[in-house]
Amino acid sequence: MKVGIPRGLFFYYYYPLWKTFFNDLGAEVIVSRETCRFTMDQGIEMSVDEICLPVKVYFGHVRELCGQKLDYLFAPRLVSVEPKAYICPKFMGIPDMLAACIKGLPPLIDITVDVSKTNKYLQRDIERIGALFNCSKRQAERAFAHGRFENYRCLKIAQQGYTMAEAIRIWEGQERPVSQKGDLNICVLGHGYSLYDDHISMNLISRLRNMGCNIHMVETFAADEIEKEAAHMPKRVFWTLGRKLVGTALHMEKRPEIDGIVYLACFGCGPDSLIGEIIERRVQNKPFMLVTVDEHTGEGGVLTRLEAFCDMLRRRRMQDEGNLSPHGECLYSH
Ligand code: SF4
Repeated sequence: MKVGIPRGLFFYYYYPLWKTFFNDLGAEVIVSRETCRFTMDQGIEMSVDEICLPVKVYFGHVRELCGQKLDYLFAPRLVSVEPKAYICPKFMGIPDMLAACIKGLPPLIDITVDVSKTNKYLQRDIERIGALFNCSKRQAERAFAHGRFENYRCLKIAQQGYTMAEAIRIWEGQERPVSQKGDLNICVLGHGYSLYDDHISMNLISRLRNMGCNIHMVETFAADEIEKEAAHMPKRVFWTLGRKLVGTALHMEKRPEIDGIVYLACFGCGPDSLIGEIIERRVQNKPFMLVTVDEHTGEGGVLTRLEAFCDMLRRRRMQDEGNLSPHGECLYSH
């Protein structure tokens, strides 16, 4: 049996888990291709105008998979992936939005992942998926445990300085890309499905690497270090991804080797507009740049801003920036 997994949204966080799980149940996993302009156009055509860019792109991936003669399309309803924290509400509506907007959709496996209070419903759903592939409860549980282990392994690869997209490729057996050491250290933040999708982010990470930057991301750091910093917020950030972004930014602020922070936000994203603002206000001692992209953003504009940011960081380091500081403080006034 063939199960399709769209290369968007949760793909960058949980693909190794679900691929291993379905393979162990005896299914073949089909993934849509890397995002391109066509994927985006297809998604824009089928989704509602008000939705954020990553969801539109996800629709484009689903559209591509609709032509692959699949037995099932895996599109879970993500509510919560850890106790007392939640995923953006758009993830909850994904299966319903797909069913309402796309004709010729393969049968959906649309389990609800909500472990905010208990994981007993997830266990029940894992068992139900196993039954679709004629597997026993025990086989399904074993496949899920194996999937979680593989996901952990992929995360460990990402901790070595790779993006989640690169970590997934390495996890699948591709060669590790060779990285050159740069002279600037930049922390790059954003939701993984926009940051690690080269088309949505307009190759933001590779462009910065080509400009001589060493890139640090959420996945580069141990989860407990990030949680410790995020706990300094007066009110707990209840979005899982948002909390990690805030925690990483606060952690970065304390590290002298970090030259600056770049935040990639998507137009139409509610959490981005809040989290980006919180980080901008809280991070006082590092140059910060917010880059907002949508389906109309021109690459030239993004490239110019990245080049200007790197130039200013270098001049700042050389104390050669004249009277205009990139971080809002006049260096030579006292
Ligand atoms: S967090 Fe933002 S980008 Fe992600 S799905 Fe929600 S609205 Fe879209």
